[in-house]
Amino acid sequence: MDLGIKGRKAIVCAASKGLGRGCAEALAAEGVELTICARTADVLEATAAEIRKATGTKITAVVCDVTTEAGRKALLAACPNPDILINNAGGPPPGDFKDFSLDDWRKAVEGNMISPIALIHATIYGMMERGFGRIVNITSASVKSPIGTLELSNGARAGLTGAVASLSRRSAQRNVTINGLLPGPFDTDRLRGVTSRVAAAKGVSFESVHEERKKGIPAGRFGTAHEFGAMAAFLCSAHAGYITGQNVVMDGGLFNSTM
Ligand code: NAP
Repeated sequence: MDLGIKGRKAIVCAASKGLGRGCAEALAAEGVELTICARTADVLEATAAEIRKATGTKITAVVCDVTTEAGRKALLAACPNPDILINNAGGPPPGDFKDFSLDDWRKAVEGNMISPIALIHATIYGMMERGFGRIVNITSASVKSPIGTLELSNGARAGLTGAVASLSRRSAQRNVTINGLLPGPFDTDRLRGVTSRVAAAKGVSFESVHEERKKGIPAGRFGTAHEFGAMAAFLCSAHAGYITGQNVVMDGGLFNSTM
């Protein structure tokens, strides 16, 4: 299926690895010109080179922290008028509510709520003027089903989801959609890092925790960045203009709900 977005320009945030990279690869395969970012220069450059080689697509790599104003400025300078925006960044750390300081909360809200809002604010009005735009916010399944140790994430990501809910209805009148893509467990560095920490705390092997977690997923496996990217690319396609304000859970059936 041709997604009808060849030649469009996209900003994909936090895209040197994991889910962001999956989105970048899927969009590049459709002939979308990319501006991607991450904080670690060599990993980002290597990812850009690999995707360029695989797809022949123009890719600009911007080394920056997207959760800072300077980082977002650099990203927008490289791609001032994107047709597609994929919002993504690292997630807040786990912990216990009683130990979180107000600064922890401010940092989580800044990184996972304010930062994507700032990029949406800077890009959506141009998209609306031009009559095409697709915005996907990578949040988390925790928006629908809170995760015990991730209260900073539950809060900041639900805040972002609520903040764009009305806007996504208004912007759709100009063929600009905003949707959330909510990952459950995907086999990325982040997931493996969390598993390693749990295994170390319990004094057991990485494999035992990894396998145990996998068993709890109805699909019987973790998701892949490739399939996450494919869904993001469809939400960014020419065919998806009638899907807006939705929050699509991708979790192998983990969120147990009839509807
Ligand atoms: P990952 O494999 O660790 O990749 C994270 C990517 O984001 C890397 O390219 C990293 O590069 C970049 N990055 C992180 N912070 C950044 C920042 N401030 N500015 C620019 N780039 C940044 O993580 P992932 O699994 O893809 O997760 C992506 C998001 O989905 C996270 O918010 C995560 O919490 C959320 N999520 C993931 C899962 C899962 O199972 N994987 C489930 C639910 C939610 P640098 O470190 O070099 O900057």
